[in-house]
Formats: sequence, structure tokens, C-alpha cells
Amino acid sequence: MSIAERTAREQRLSAAAIAVELCRRCSIGATRQRSVYGEGDSCAELMVVGEGPGETEDRLGRPFVGRAGELLDRMLLAIGLPRERAYIANTVKCRPTLDDGTRLRNRPPDPAEMTNCRPWLDEQIEIIAPRVLLALGAPAAKSFLGPRFSITKQRGQWFEGPRGIPLMATFHPAYVLRLTGGEIEAVKRLVWEDLKAVRAKLDEFARLAQTPQPAVQIDLFGS
Ligand code: SF4
Repeated sequence: MSIAERTAREQRLSAAAIAVELCRRCSIGATRQRSVYGEGDSCAELMVVGEGPGETEDRLGRPFVGRAGELLDRMLLAIGLPRERAYIANTVKCRPTLDDGTRLRNRPPDPAEMTNCRPWLDEQIEIIAPRVLLALGAPAAKSFLGPRFSITKQRGQWFEGPRGIPLMATFHPAYVLRLTGGEIEAVKRLVWEDLKAVRAKLDEFARLAQTPQPAVQIDLFGS
């Protein structure tokens, strides 16, 4: 990737992040503390998409921080990708909340919020043009693959994502952290299988990029 291309991408991402900070398409745009646009390598091969910012993300303006973020970092490192070499974002850029009378609680984004925010995500995917998309959790997977997608039955499978990019879904790190007992080991094994498949797909792209393509024979003189 040339320096000029990287700079152009970074400038577009910065401009979009400023526009997101001003966005008020949904009511959560007014209740959030900070927008959480996304972060990472503008030329990343892997783009990770979660559901939406939680309380800590909302406070810091960064995606996947706190315990779930630490687990995501370990998951990425396990397949040889330090967090800063991936790009990390969410389906919505503002924290969806529920006011229970005493405090604002996290909730999943509703379909209207995901629809409103989709142009921001689509633009990110277009700018970064990752080789692989990894959706974390059912809401993120459904935003790409439709409401009938089942995370328990269809995680670990390859689908065609936006712009024809290979897409896989796996369990959200926050879900893994909520599990207890024997279930946790079984789910961790499944997530590890999914991550290995992502690594294999990235390696496949890298091999293809290195394989010399057969020279195209051109009849310079016509026949
Ligand atoms: S969630 Fe997305 S579309 Fe809605 S206000 Fe926030 S940035 Fe705008």
C-alpha cells in the first residue's frame, strides 16, 4: 500500500469521524457522551464489526475497550494480528441505552438505529476495503445477513458480505465472558475454530497475492 493511498484513507476516515460526531439521525445521538466511530489500520486486511458501544466505549470514544475489548485483543493476537493491525468498528456509532429510572443501561441497537447508521459503516468498509469481515455477535451478523441468521447454527461459515467481501460471524467476546461452567470451554473452542478459519482465509489471500500470475499473451501484430 503506497503512503499516498494510506494518507488518503486516513483523511477520509478522519472526515467521516467528524461527521459522525455531529450526526443526530437517531435519538441516541443526543444521549450518548461520545460517538465511537472506529479505530485501527486504515489498510487493514481484517475488519471486525461489533454491535454497538457500551458504557466504557461511550465514555472513551473508542470501540471494544474494557474486558470484552481485552478478550478481543487476545483473540486477534492468537491469530497473529495485533489489534492495531485490524480495523474495529460497530454497526452503530452511538451507545444505545435504556433509562431504567436510576441510570442508563446498555441495550442492543434497534433496527431503525442500525438502518440509520448503515451508511457510516458502508463508507468505512468501502474506505478500508478489508479482505475479510468478522461480525461479532448475532446483532452484527444479522445486520449483514438478515434477521433469520442464527449465530448458534451459522457461525463459522463463510458468507458473501458487502462489496463481495468474505464475511464470517462468531460469538461476541462479551457473550463469552458472561458464560460460566463447562459451557465456556465449549464456546471458546468454537470461537478458536472460527478465528483459525479467518487466519486461513487471510493466508489464502496473501498466497494469491504472491503467486506470479501467468503472463497474458498479447498478439502485438494482429493476425
Ligand atoms: S447511531 Fe449512527 S446514525 Fe444514529 S445518531 Fe449515532 S451516528 Fe448517527
